[in-house]
Amino acid sequence: MDSTWDRILLHPTNASVPRLAVSSCLLGNPVRYDGSDKKAETVATAMAYHCELQPVCPEVEMNMGVPRETIRIEEDHRGNRLLLGNNSNTDYTARLQPVLDKRLQEFRELGMSGFIFKARSPSCAPGSYPMPDPDGSDDPAPTYGLFAAAVRDHFPLLPMIDEEQLHDHRPRRLFNLRMYAHFRLRQVFQDGPSTDALRAFHAVAEPLLNAMPGFCRTDLSAVLDDPRTYCHRLLGCLREAHDAEAMDAAIKFLRKAPPSSLSV
Ligand code: SF4
Repeated sequence: MDSTWDRILLHPTNASVPRLAVSSCLLGNPVRYDGSDKKAETVATAMAYHCELQPVCPEVEMNMGVPRETIRIEEDHRGNRLLLGNNSNTDYTARLQPVLDKRLQEFRELGMSGFIFKARSPSCAPGSYPMPDPDGSDDPAPTYGLFAAAVRDHFPLLPMIDEEQLHDHRPRRLFNLRMYAHFRLRQVFQDGPSTDALRAFHAVAEPLLNAMPGFCRTDLSAVLDDPRTYCHRLLGCLREAHDAEAMDAAIKFLRKAPPSSLSV
């Protein structure tokens, strides 16, 4: 648990709004294989209004160039997932690791509160890349692009969404709720884990708690003397939030609350 805590909460941050890493093409940058972009106004305009967006394009950072050949994910006989060129069959997988080493460290230092990645990309897709069935007998199975999979494994409690899911009420609500909860917890505990700060936060966080099922609220109340476990549990429990009205109230509370009202 400590490593997760350290990764997502304890790094000092100077952010005044949530920071998100975003697939660069969604922001209108011409980085796709054919030199085009995939600008998504929901991301480039709406999210940019209340968040700080950090562009990332794994394939450009892997020195694949623009334009470049398209790539696909394929599994080898040991179950390892590879990034292969569709024209040349070049194996680009090894180029991804240095990009991940650099970017994961940077995401930790910048204090990212979430990720918006391009749907269906073999590098970026957060669960929507159509992985072909090896025998061709079944429909493609949706899976993570290789960059997104590594980010998910490194920051398991942070929300990740694609530009298409942002148009659906429930995924968008859940994303905003988890993003703002993470951002506010970082502010509450910016000087390190503190029981006093936690109790003060918990006392005013009723809208946030109401968005979660009863067992989550009970679990949280039981760990008020343990800020690390509390934060870990809260961010995990938020995946279970379901009541739309309560979620909206919680998001409003977390967006508007000045840090001073949430800490001692
Ligand atoms: S989907 Fe990802 S890898 Fe592809 S162009 Fe967009 S940012 Fe780059």
